[in-house]
Amino acid sequence: MKKGIHPNYDKAKITCVCGESFETGSTKKEMRVEICSKCHPFYTGSQRMVETRGRAEKFRKKYGLK
Ligand SMILES: [Zn+2]
Repeated sequence: MKKGIHPNYDKAKITCVCGESFETGSTKKEMRVEICSKCHPFYTGSQRMVETRGRAEKFRKKYGLK
């Protein structure tokens, strides 16, 4: 078994309930998430979320946030 410079920091496989999986660096080997960029409503482009995004922009403008 090959030992790395950072033995506790390895690639972790993130598995989403939607079936999507991707790798990331983590001290954990495996992680399960309930939502990811693939199935998150924000990324699906549904009209409802577009509307919500518009509201978020108004909110940001109101409070001078980027
Ligand atoms: Zn997902």
